[in-house]
Amino acid sequence: MTAGRAGGGSEGELAAREAAELAARSALPGAVGRAGRPAGGLGGVDSGPAADGLARPDAGDEERVVEAALRPRRLDEFVGQERVREQVSLVLESARRRGRPPDHVLLSGAPGLGKTSLAMIIAAELGTGIRITSGPALERAGDLAALVSSLSAGEVLFIDEIHRIARPAEELLYVAMEDFRVDVIVGKGPGSTAIPLEVEPFTLVGATTRSGLLTGPLRDRFGFTAHMEPYTPAELERVLTRSAGLLGVDLRPDAATEVAGRSRGTPRIANRLLRRVRDYAEVRGDGVVDRAVAQAALKVYDVDELGLDRLDREVLDALVRRFGGGPVGLSTLAVAVSEEPETVEEVAEPFLVRSGLVVRTPRGRMATPAAWRHLGLKPPGPVDVLPLDLGDAG
Ligand code: ADP
Repeated sequence: MTAGRAGGGSEGELAAREAAELAARSALPGAVGRAGRPAGGLGGVDSGPAADGLARPDAGDEERVVEAALRPRRLDEFVGQERVREQVSLVLESARRRGRPPDHVLLSGAPGLGKTSLAMIIAAELGTGIRITSGPALERAGDLAALVSSLSAGEVLFIDEIHRIARPAEELLYVAMEDFRVDVIVGKGPGSTAIPLEVEPFTLVGATTRSGLLTGPLRDRFGFTAHMEPYTPAELERVLTRSAGLLGVDLRPDAATEVAGRSRGTPRIANRLLRRVRDYAEVRGDGVVDRAVAQAALKVYDVDELGLDRLDREVLDALVRRFGGGPVGLSTLAVAVSEEPETVEEVAEPFLVRSGLVVRTPRGRMATPAAWRHLGLKPPGPVDVLPLDLGDAG
């Protein structure tokens, strides 16, 4: 499994693959678009704290282009999320029978679980167009008024990161959602008037990674809320097998299992790891991805058996080795790994907590016995450094 191609085997070639994908960035677009045409401005506008790890949750601009090719197009191609799929299909079926656009739909869940894909599927299943934008792109009510009033009847409006919509735009959205009307304000101050403008009935699909940040009035205007959970390894294997087929990658079942187990319950990460193991297999081998190739590739890319990347491990390492397992405050921990506190909190911590490696306590972050073991260390015996709710603390 050494270099199989002329000039192959260099890290440089892997980097060249990355560069080719980056070149796709130039295909990226403006802020609001119809599906099928260049459409951007979501996520890429502001995808939160910087992190370069393979396991970072958000897609960069260039990745969105690559992802477009892998998106499931219809509900029956959408892997997993059985409950959500059933709920969505009922909402769609009943709308079809009534001959009216379905209720507004709110999709909540971590980045990369398929919210954008599902919004596009909803439009495809209804046979209508979709317009895509994001909360941070809607700063002024006027932006939203222009967008909503240009929708054609039955169209889907997808607003990603809807909890980040500016207040004046949000208020306009209430009326648009409820009465299919926008009030256009003409003039300023006491002399200003609101001119009501009818808009075509549409379906809003809102997506949020932080449903707790949504205001009550906005949440109440959605007829249906679906919460998306992390995928099981078996579901991720199906995502990987499907993507490998689309990308023409010879992914063996044992490799699919290996990659699925390191994908942190997230299809976006699974697809990302798949592209990286494909690169490795093409540059260093004969293109076939079996378990050994997948393991070797993921070692090069610093993704361990649990799916932790470099930053996650640095955080865990600092917590355990430098602070004796904690408790330690977020900012102290961030300084120890030379990152911003938000990066540690929003990029590394959620998965560390979800994996049961770190717990948040009122006194700070603490490593669990599983964290010590993951680093190949013996957990400290005394119970007093461990939170009370850990069953295996002794
Ligand atoms: P989100 O909007 O929640 O961040 P996306 O819909 O952009 O997530 O999904 C990221 C990528 O993951 C998509 O390109 C798609 O290929 C893949 N994906 C997500 N959910 C599924 C699924 N249920 N089945 C197959 N692929 C999926």
